Amino acid sequence: MAADVLITDWKEAPRVRLLADHPVAQGGRYVLCWLQQALRARDNAVIDAAVHLGNALNLPVLVYHGIREDYPYASDRLHRFILGASVDLGISCRERGLACVQHVDHAERREKGLVHRLAADAAAVVLEDQPTFVARWQAQRVAERAQVPVFAVNAACLVPPALIGDGVRGRSGFLRRHEPERTAWSQWKDERPDVTPYAGELPFAPDRLEELDLDALVADLAIDHSLPVSTMHPPGRAAAEERLARLVADVLPGYASARNDATRSEGASGLSPYLHFGVLGPREIMAAVNSATAGGQHKRKLADELLGFREWFHYQATQLQAPEQYDRIASWARQTLADHASDARPEQETLAAMLAGETRDETWNAGQRQFLVDGWMHNNLRMYWCKRIIAWTPTPEAAWATACYLNDRLSLDGRDPSTYGNIAAMFAGSPSERERAIYGRVATRGDGSTRNRAGGEAWLAAAASRPAPQLSVPAEVPVDPYLTGEATV
Ligand SMILES: Cc1cc2nc3c(=O)[nH]c(=O)nc-3n(C[C@H](O)[C@H](O)[C@H](O)COP(=O)(O)OP(=O)(O)OC[C@H]3O[C@@H](n4cnc5c(N)ncnc54)[C@H](O)[C@@H]3O)c2cc1C
Repeated sequence: MAADVLITDWKEAPRVRLLADHPVAQGGRYVLCWLQQALRARDNAVIDAAVHLGNALNLPVLVYHGIREDYPYASDRLHRFILGASVDLGISCRERGLACVQHVDHAERREKGLVHRLAADAAAVVLEDQPTFVARWQAQRVAERAQVPVFAVNAACLVPPALIGDGVRGRSGFLRRHEPERTAWSQWKDERPDVTPYAGELPFAPDRLEELDLDALVADLAIDHSLPVSTMHPPGRAAAEERLARLVADVLPGYASARNDATRSEGASGLSPYLHFGVLGPREIMAAVNSATAGGQHKRKLADELLGFREWFHYQATQLQAPEQYDRIASWARQTLADHASDARPEQETLAAMLAGETRDETWNAGQRQFLVDGWMHNNLRMYWCKRIIAWTPTPEAAWATACYLNDRLSLDGRDPSTYGNIAAMFAGSPSERERAIYGRVATRGDGSTRNRAGGEAWLAAAASRPAPQLSVPAEVPVDPYLTGEATV
């Protein structure tokens, strides 16, 4: 019955997958809505699915968001951003008539297996359908152990990836299926809870985040304190709304031509961190874009990036067992890179020099310093940045691991389907006519699109010498415990 309510009858049913098929638990106290990355209370299909199911079962929804100390790359930067989003999520859920409880894991208040314990008191579980990184692996583990139905819901995309169907290989084929769906999926209406908010027993004492000094809390945790909070991307919903307003007023009117210019601070929206952590969703952004007065070419370009590229990479990730791994790269590219794996690499850089943005390459350092200071890098620099790593590391596999590691650790928008999809595109793309050392037929890239602009030289020199935090340097690029199966929920 629970399956019908969401999988067949609900208006957003194509967003929903049944991860664990069990009967609804009789005597369950609530429908558990477990959020990992979709950290917003409105326009959130995960919450809406839980409310819809709760109404059908005459049960309240319990929204839960927790943050652990031990996820890969946990740092002041990521933790503070996530906690800022979580505070606003809790406040807005309560305004929406939903109970929302939070937990910040630390040594004195460790709560082992909290999601499993919350699920044990639930009639059903609704969680996020995220195709990469911790959110994907943890959802799978919870579904494996649950004794109640578990539904995974996509809130990250405007068009549910399932509507595209399996096996679409190229972006043009994807767009042919994606574009006709966009208008229908642009509308949303938050589901209204019919049941009073859950106020019953809990298996733990929640943190009241809105009453805590979050900076002090973060300072006290066993996480990477060498990576500071980004001032360019402050945490929280108000900061995300400010960026969205800035997109409409200052960025969109020139977007189609200015987005490639790394030297212009208003050339791009800077929204990707808020999208990655779900503080804003693509429907809300597209609604703002569509009602703006900017010219059609700018709106179309923004839609092409936000929907045509971002959702393409999401779709790709849903089609892969391990989107984070090197073997996702096109086979011709792996072959040509393997053919050149033993080529001399005279330009190699150390991990310490790359991490610090102190390599011999000024343009690369300029991009890396954006990662270090802002927790974000301009798209045009990211392409050059990624290509160069191939020449600087001993093997193509090491280049892949290094690019993912730097992007994931430093960038607020890292660990995303767009991370691994874009890095894979830099390692493959269209084969070059010319066969070069190290790269084989993988195209290389120069820095002329920034350096040759008026003022480009001076901008790069200044960007490459921005004071940057000194980071802890691992002996080698760490292997992710989730990919090796060593981590637990
Ligand atoms: C090597 C490499 C690594 C990248 N790593 C990431 C990453 O970790 N996370 C991430 O979100 N994006 C990544 N991108 C894509 C892109 O660079 C960023 O999305 C963009 O720079 C974010 O800045 P913005 O929000 O100002 O973009 P805008 O130009 O304002 O675009 C608006 C939104 O469209 C989406 N978008 C724009 N360009 C792309 C693109 N090429 N691919 C997918 N979506 C896009 C983003 O969600 C972005 O927020 C990477 C690109 C490259 C080449």
